Amino acid sequence: MKVLQPEAIRKLAERKGQNNSPVLSLYLNIDPSNAVNRRGGHKVALDGMLREIESQIKDDEQLKHFQEDAEWVRQKAEYHLPKGKSLVLFCDVSDSFFFEENLPVRMANQAWLGKTPYVRPLLEAWDEHARYGVVVADREKARFFLIAMGEIHEVAEINQEPPVKHRSAAGSDHMRSQMILQRRADKYSEEFLRDVVDKLRDVSLEYSVEKLVLAGPEEVTAELHRLLPKALLLKVMDRVKISINSKASEVLEQSYPAIERIEREQEREMVHEMVTMAHKGKGPSAKAVIGFEATLSAANQGRIYRLLYPNGYRVPGHQCVSCDVLLDHAPADNKCPYCSKALTETEDVVWPLSERVLSTGGKVEEIRDQEARLELVSAGEIGAYLR
Ligand SMILES: [Zn+2]
Repeated sequence: MKVLQPEAIRKLAERKGQNNSPVLSLYLNIDPSNAVNRRGGHKVALDGMLREIESQIKDDEQLKHFQEDAEWVRQKAEYHLPKGKSLVLFCDVSDSFFFEENLPVRMANQAWLGKTPYVRPLLEAWDEHARYGVVVADREKARFFLIAMGEIHEVAEINQEPPVKHRSAAGSDHMRSQMILQRRADKYSEEFLRDVVDKLRDVSLEYSVEKLVLAGPEEVTAELHRLLPKALLLKVMDRVKISINSKASEVLEQSYPAIERIEREQEREMVHEMVTMAHKGKGPSAKAVIGFEATLSAANQGRIYRLLYPNGYRVPGHQCVSCDVLLDHAPADNKCPYCSKALTETEDVVWPLSERVLSTGGKVEEIRDQEARLELVSAGEIGAYLR
């Protein structure tokens, strides 16, 4: 997931092909929590996207190149070990260019054939998800971590230069020299912590870090806290006691409660604001809707900016395969009210609904916080901010 840093994404986007042959870019939703995907639904979706591109290629040479790329992508999707929620693939087989990444977030299914890898969804995912910085420091070493989309990466490390050794004085001067050495050591230690602060500032800027956790021995994080400039101080959300040699997974585990607190709070605000907005204005000028029917109708009109529903929420419904409309109830004749074709019953309409929202450029939020869930459920279970 290191690729998600904008710098790396841009580099990818600027990649020059060797022989003027196009790159196939693919975003595939492989979320195993969706029953359809567990039955291989993502492969069906992939096939549909590839066929559509293929049908538009007129040139024989280009078609041959595309089929090579499509084959590689199919193999990847076929033998891919389920990891994360989305699979991102870029390839140009004739140029030996292959790129593969798993993302822990849901992305809209899409495939593109173009001169360069289609990176916009990656940049959007970067913008959409907060980055948290964690510095783990003691008096000799500091490690810098980035947490984004629930994953952790170690991005930098600095070490204290060993202090210059001094000859120890003998006799009655011994006590005095001990004090001098101690003072010198304190000075070295503070200088090192100042270096840590400088590095922390660099890392925060480089990765657009929104919030920080200071980790390490209690007295070190206290001193770091004291040394931080105001801009960084305002980002600090917690101090945790942790050993400098902790594994990245332990750093994530220790920092997560603070992150979770913030994200849960955001969920509560998001739900509360949406419910308030939906109650305020109804009709075509409404800025939010609540309730299943109103939400489906807004989705059918492509008006959803951000969809909110409780994590794990499922509702059976109906879908028109012809005009793609989604319905909670079928009319008595089981015909689509828009195009009169027969409706298909589906065990869960929330999934195709969220796919629809993603594919029209909207966002999907699964609400986990208990209080936010209660407010959402009592207001109408599902709702959305509208464009
Ligand atoms: Zn229809």
